[in-house]
Amino acid sequence: MTHTATRNIEIVEVGPRDGLQNESTFLSTEQKLDFINRLIAAGARRIEAASFVNPKRVPQMADSAAVMAAVPRGNGVSFIGLALNARGAERAIAAGCDEVNFVICASREFGIRNQGATAEESLAELRRAAPMVADAKRALSATISVAFGCPFEGEVAQSTVADIAAAAFALGAQEIALGDTIGVADPWTVRARIHAVRAAAPDSLLRLHFHNTRASALANAFAAIEAGANILDSSCGGIGGCPFAPKATGNVASEDLVFMLHRAGFETGLSLDALIATAHWLEGALGHPVPAALGKAGIFPYKRPDA
Ligand code: ZN
Repeated sequence: MTHTATRNIEIVEVGPRDGLQNESTFLSTEQKLDFINRLIAAGARRIEAASFVNPKRVPQMADSAAVMAAVPRGNGVSFIGLALNARGAERAIAAGCDEVNFVICASREFGIRNQGATAEESLAELRRAAPMVADAKRALSATISVAFGCPFEGEVAQSTVADIAAAAFALGAQEIALGDTIGVADPWTVRARIHAVRAAAPDSLLRLHFHNTRASALANAFAAIEAGANILDSSCGGIGGCPFAPKATGNVASEDLVFMLHRAGFETGLSLDALIATAHWLEGALGHPVPAALGKAGIFPYKRPDA
């Protein structure tokens, strides 16, 4: 390490939801709980564990309530459930999610394909969902999907993203995430959009969600941290994608992101050895290799065999 950073970076592990939802091999509820327990043992403290969407559209997540009923409690781990509308938020609360993450799509066409709603319609749902989440004393965040580009409409205007962020924060989403659903962000645009969202919703917490579809996720993560963001989504092994985005591939791999951060002196609370071991376990469960680089190349500095 040549540079000592002093900040903590909070990693939100999204493997059990965003990671698994695009896999053709369905993990059993028991395997999902095994995955979640391995992530907790690796140090994960915020885990996107479930989504409360139409099970006909995302069958991999049909057992979300059963997963949430069996996750280990009382260990300081916050479990996040995804919701696309007020009904989904209600189900996430009933299932015991500590946080509800509400999705709003920045483009009209993606919104209609992903959740049958435009941004305006999703914000109307958020207006109904927010008081339920507050009454249940759960945390509420909003992810703006396709915040850097849409597979159907192309470019997404920065002002659109900033406007949605301001509206979602005003409705009660304390944390706003910008999602690069199809992996088309670049580091300079990341910086500019973070500044724009900060200006539009100055008191919100900012989270970034990068996919490595075009191999730019780590560069984008660097740009986000340089721009002052402290919260990043990633998935163990780099699994993931979106069933409604053509050719979408995985999230930035937790172990690759954490390796880069630890090399620079940032702290994440995560164990690289445990993340690599979990990714190897995942390869067995899914029946194919995962995209992450660290499991192939290994950790550096090297450890002595007897260490
Ligand atoms: Zn995603």
